[in-house]
Amino acid sequence: MRGRMMQMPLLVSSLIEHAYRVHGDREVVSRTMDGSVHRSSWGEVRTRSKCLAGALQARGIVTADRLATLGWNTHRHLEIYLGTSSMGAVCHTVNPRLHPSQLVYILNHAADRVLFVDPPFLPLVEAVVDKLDSIETHVILCGADELPDTSLPGAISYEEVLAEHDGEYSWPVLDENAASALCYTSGTTGNPKGALYSHRSTVLHAYGILQPDVFGLGRSSVVLPIVPMFHASAWGMPYATAAAGSKLVFPGPRLDPEGLTEQLWDEAVTHCAGVPSVFIPLLQHWRTTGAERPPSLEMMVIGGSAPPRALIEAIEGEFDIVFRHAWGMTEMSPLGSSNVLTPEQRAEPAKQRSAYHTKQGRPPFGVELRIVGEDGDILPNDGVAFGELQVRGPWVVDGYFASDEHKLTPDGWFPTGDVATLDPTCNIHITDRTKDLIKSGGEWISSIDVENTAMGHPGITMAAVIGVEDEKWGERPILIAVAATDPPPSFDSVIEYLEGTLAKWQLPDEVIFVDALPMGATGKVQKTQLREKYGKS
Ligand code: ADP
Repeated sequence: MRGRMMQMPLLVSSLIEHAYRVHGDREVVSRTMDGSVHRSSWGEVRTRSKCLAGALQARGIVTADRLATLGWNTHRHLEIYLGTSSMGAVCHTVNPRLHPSQLVYILNHAADRVLFVDPPFLPLVEAVVDKLDSIETHVILCGADELPDTSLPGAISYEEVLAEHDGEYSWPVLDENAASALCYTSGTTGNPKGALYSHRSTVLHAYGILQPDVFGLGRSSVVLPIVPMFHASAWGMPYATAAAGSKLVFPGPRLDPEGLTEQLWDEAVTHCAGVPSVFIPLLQHWRTTGAERPPSLEMMVIGGSAPPRALIEAIEGEFDIVFRHAWGMTEMSPLGSSNVLTPEQRAEPAKQRSAYHTKQGRPPFGVELRIVGEDGDILPNDGVAFGELQVRGPWVVDGYFASDEHKLTPDGWFPTGDVATLDPTCNIHITDRTKDLIKSGGEWISSIDVENTAMGHPGITMAAVIGVEDEKWGERPILIAVAATDPPPSFDSVIEYLEGTLAKWQLPDEVIFVDALPMGATGKVQKTQLREKYGKS
C-alpha cells in the first residue's frame, strides 16, 4: 500500500522560494571586488535569480546546459547558484586556483556554454581562451559601467544580463533526480573528475547540515562561509542557509585575517567555516594585535584537512569559541561527519577536549560508514582496526560526470581513499589518505598524527610529513615545516618535543625548514610536490 502523501520533488527552487516567502527580509551581505560592502536580502536574491534565469532562457540556455563560474563568495555567485540550478541548468563551479591546463581541461570536459567570471580572474581566462571549445558567452560579475576592457568573446556585464529580464519567471517543475550542480575534484591523482549533484541530493544534504550536531543553523544564525563556493559548494551552506533563513555573509576576495576579522565584528557573525590554513593566521592575527575575539562568534566549523591539535586547543581554550570538526569530500556533497563531544567530554579542560576533537566525528543521519582491510574484509568498529573508509548515502556520488570509470565497490559503497578507525559509536579517526600513509619496517605511521603533534611545538606553525625511501626500513618519515621563530628550532628540540607523544620509530629522521609549504587549490598541503622534491633518499 502506498502512503497518501504529496509527491513534491526536492528542488533547489524550493529552497529559494522558501527563503523568499518566510525569510525574505533576512540579509545577504557581501564584500565586493572593490572592498565595499553590498547589502541585499533573500527576497532580493530570489528576484535577481529569476531575472538571471529568464535572461539566460531568452539567450537560449536550456535544461542540463552547463554554466560555469569562476568567482569568489559573493551575492552574485549565490544568485547564479540558485538561478541556474532552479531553471534546470547545471551550475558548474570552477576553482580559479587550479593550474591553467586543468582549467582548460575542466571547462572543455564539462562543455560549459556560459562562463561567469569575477574581474580578478579575467587574466586567467584571457590566457587560455583560445583553448576553450564551448564557451559562447563570458559574463563578467560587475555592473554595466564597471566592465573592464577584455578580449573575451561575448563579454557582457552581469548587471546587463539581469536587466534583460523583468523577473516574471516561473521555475519549472523538474525531476528531483535531475543534475543541479557540478564540481570537479582537484585531481591530485589523474585528471579532475566531476561530482554531479542532483536537486534531491542537494536538498537532503541541506537538511543534513542543518542538524544541531552538524552546523546547527537557524534563522538567528549569521553565517560566514570562508570556504570558497568553488570548493564543494562552500560545504552546502548557500543552500542550507536558504532553508534555515540565516543571515549570510560573504567575504568576497578578502580572506586575509584583517578582512575576516572586520566582517566577523561588523556583521555579528555567529558561525564561520573553512579549512585549517585559514584559521591558523586568523588566530595569530588576534594574538599579535591583542584584539578581542569577535563577541558574537559561537562556532568555528573546520574541515577539509586535519586541524592541528594546537589550533583546536586555542579556539576553545584561548578564545572560548565552540570548535566543530567536520570531515567530508567533494564526492559527498561534501559532508561525511562532524564531531560533537559528549557532555562528559565537554566538561573536561580544553587541553583534554582537544584530543577528542582531533577525531573527525560521527556521520549524520544520511551517511553510512564502514572500514575495509587490504584483503577486502570489513573490519570491526573497535577504534583499533584501521582500513579504507567507505561510505554510502543519498548525497554520495555513484560515479562521475561523463565518465565510464566505475568507482563503487561491487556491493555499492564509495571508497574514499582515506584510512581510518571507527569506534563502536562510528566515531571516525582518519589516520591518513591511502597514498600518504608511511610504512616503516612493516609498521604504519600516520603522517597526520606526526604533523599534528609537531604543530604543537611553539617553534612550528605548519608541518607536513612524508615518507622517504629507505633501504633498511622501506620508508622513513621526514618532517618539512614552517618555523614560527627565527632561527628555527633545532632538530633535537623538535625530536625531544615529539618524543613526549610518539613512539621512537615514528619520529622523523630529518626536519627541514622551508619558508612556505606548497598549498593546493583547496587549501591543502600538496604532498605530491613534497614527495617529488624530498621523497627520494
Ligand atoms: P580533494 O581530493 O580535491 O582534496 P576534497 O576537497 O573533496 O578533495 O577533499 C577530501 C579529502 O580531504 C578527504 O578525503 C580527506 O582526505 C581530506 N579531509 C577532509 N576533511 C578532513 C578532516 N577533517 N580531517 C582529515 N582529512 C580531511
